[in-house]
Amino acid sequence: MIRVRFAPSPTGDLHVGGGRTALFNWLFARKFGGTFILRIEDTDGARNTEEAAQGILKGLRWMGLDWDEGPDAGGSYGPYFQSQRKSIYDAYLARLEADGRTYVEDNGAVRFKFSRTAITVNDLVCGDVTFAPTEEPDMTLRRPDGSYIFHFVNVVDDIEMKMTHVFRGEDHLSNTWKHIDLFNAFGATPPTYAHIPLILNSDGSKMSKRDEGSAIEKSYMNGGFLPDAVFNYLCMLGWTPRADVEKLSREALVALFEPSEIHSSNARFDMAKCSWFNAQYLRELSPEALFAVARPFLEKEGLVITDEAVAAAAVYSVKEKVSLLTEIPSWVHYFFREDYVFEADVVTKLKAKPENVALLQAAASALATQTEWTEASVQTAVEEAAKTLSVKPGALMPLLRFALSGQSRGPGVTTIAHLIGQASTLKRIERATAL
Ligand code: GLU
Repeated sequence: MIRVRFAPSPTGDLHVGGGRTALFNWLFARKFGGTFILRIEDTDGARNTEEAAQGILKGLRWMGLDWDEGPDAGGSYGPYFQSQRKSIYDAYLARLEADGRTYVEDNGAVRFKFSRTAITVNDLVCGDVTFAPTEEPDMTLRRPDGSYIFHFVNVVDDIEMKMTHVFRGEDHLSNTWKHIDLFNAFGATPPTYAHIPLILNSDGSKMSKRDEGSAIEKSYMNGGFLPDAVFNYLCMLGWTPRADVEKLSREALVALFEPSEIHSSNARFDMAKCSWFNAQYLRELSPEALFAVARPFLEKEGLVITDEAVAAAAVYSVKEKVSLLTEIPSWVHYFFREDYVFEADVVTKLKAKPENVALLQAAASALATQTEWTEASVQTAVEEAAKTLSVKPGALMPLLRFALSGQSRGPGVTTIAHLIGQASTLKRIERATAL
């Protein structure tokens, strides 16, 4: 039975590298009917915070990475916070002490006697990596203040929680011999390791907390991304699924996941690519689903939603134009207010020809006589007005767009007019002719 875990240290926001590590563990568990465990490695009281732990849970939930055991899920191998497992670590330390594998320093620190043999990591991604017998000083397991070091609790918990595989960042590979030495000292079989490549910035530099795309909450949740798109894109960072297309559903990615296909070279983050994925996923949403995810972004910009059906239709009308949910408000704000600002170039274009006022007024007259208000009746009215004025409808449409939205881009003019209604349409044309 496969058991894998994501074991974050809650020192800050969930990082994109952590999200991708969690994702690969999750894919592996789901593909092979295994168990995915979340373990919070919070033994560093000075650096770990409850807030960071909650932020990590929130980020994982947003990505749709559900865990079978861990905080809020329970399980037979808890507690899943290392800060609550001290008695387990004490018992394991006593075993090493009894076996003569430890000694106590003058200051009270407990050290582990390395075996000082060659140790090979049979890594699923990096292949066999052999470490020569170490010349490092023996490793501290317990500090003078009684706290345990990362390597010790990490190994004890992997034994206790019966981990079969460990997918983690490549930065841990160089210390894995220490972990294997500890497993051997406990007479336990180490899990199969898979050290996954790091995520670098697009210029090849190391990604830090402040870099674009680095934090799940700030960059993606608040940045207008859809979880499915981020899920899909992060799979591509260090893995190339065997498929003809890149846009793949969660189910397809689970079915395709193959650890031996994880790249051994570092991945480069590409925000444009990630946004492209997002645009693809946005376009697939139903009007209701799109409105549900866009709504918080509209409200954040102060747009007041009075008619949900109109608001949903307005958002849906620009779905081909945007890649991120954060871009939507600037495309649709005039559906929600009458006092929208006319863009400077729109004012210039409206005033460029004196006859524009007459054209707009003629269109308004035709629109005012419509007894029903549909996209088709708006179209008919504009065509009638154009005929009367001996101009093409194509000459009127841009002017109407300017008047109704204050912008030179947007969804179809008939769509705008239909959604804002007849009264608002007439009022807006009047306002534009008075500019
Ligand atoms: N707490 C470690 C980290 O956040 C986990 C390492 C591991 O997965 O074994 O890097």
